[in-house]
Amino acid sequence: MVSASLGVHLQLSVRLSSICRSSTYDVASRTDEGINIMVATDFTLAGYRALVENLVGRGYLVVGYGEADPAARHLILRHDLDMSLEAALRIASIEAELAIKASYFVLLRTEMYNPWSKQGQKHLHRIMGFGHEIGLHLDCSLYPDDPDALDRAAIEECRTLEAVTGTSVKTVSFHRPAAQLLGWAEQIGGRRHTYQPRFYSDMGYCSDSRGAWRHGHPLDHPAMVEGRAVQLLTHPIWWNRAAPLDPVATLDRFRDERDGVLAAALSANCIPYRETRGATPSPLKRDDE
Ligand SMILES: [Zn+2]
Repeated sequence: MVSASLGVHLQLSVRLSSICRSSTYDVASRTDEGINIMVATDFTLAGYRALVENLVGRGYLVVGYGEADPAARHLILRHDLDMSLEAALRIASIEAELAIKASYFVLLRTEMYNPWSKQGQKHLHRIMGFGHEIGLHLDCSLYPDDPDALDRAAIEECRTLEAVTGTSVKTVSFHRPAAQLLGWAEQIGGRRHTYQPRFYSDMGYCSDSRGAWRHGHPLDHPAMVEGRAVQLLTHPIWWNRAAPLDPVATLDRFRDERDGVLAAALSANCIPYRETRGATPSPLKRDDE
C-alpha cells in the first residue's frame, strides 16, 4: 500500500516501479537515474519503534560497540546526531521503553545545536540517563586531509565532549566521511570508530542517509536475512514525526523550530527586542519562502 504522503514524496521525475513489501514496513522500489532506491513510508517515531521491535523479535541482541561480536546475532543501533538533540531524545526514550541501549554521536562544531547550552545539556543528560552511550561525531571536513591532523582533532574534540558530558568518550563516528575513511582499520584519537572493518565490513551495515533506505531496507539486508551481526545507522531527525513527511519538509519544520528557539533567546537577552516582540515572539514572515 502506498500512502498519499509517499505519493507526494515521489512526485518527482521518478516512476514508482513496483511494491515489494506491505505491512508496517511499506516499502516502494523506484528507479532514480538508474539507481535502485528503497523508500520506506514508515519514517516516524512509531515506525522506528516497530522496526526495532521487529529486529529484537528476530532474535537480535542489541549491544554497544564494546560488546559487539561480528560472529554473533548482534545489533548495534547507532544514531548520528546531525541536526537535533531533541529528536535524539525522542528516539532514546523509545529505546528506553524497549529496555535497549544505543549509541548517540554528538557533533561539537556545528551550527545546528549546542550540546553545552542549557537545553542541550538537559537533552544530553536525559539520553545518558537512559544508559545510552555518547560518542563523538567528528566532522572531518573541518580538518586537513591527513591522518595525524585528524588524530589530533579527535583527541581534542573527545576531550571537549568529555568535559561537556562528564563521561569518557570511547567511540568516534565520522560525519560525512571521505571514501578512504570507510573501512579504515586504525583507531582515531586512541579510540575505536564506527567504520572500522569490525563494525563496517565484518558485519552488515545499513543506513537511512538523506531520509531514505538508499541501499535497501534493513529487513532486506543480506546480513539481516541470514541473521548475522548488523550495524544500523539512523539519524533521529528523519524519524521525529508522527506521520511520514517529505525530507525537505522535515528540515523546514526543524528550521522553524530552531528559529523559535533563537527568537526566545533574543527576547531573554535583549530588552528592546523583548519589548517589541514579546517574551515568546511569533514566527517572522520571511521574504525568502
Ligand atoms: Zn553525520
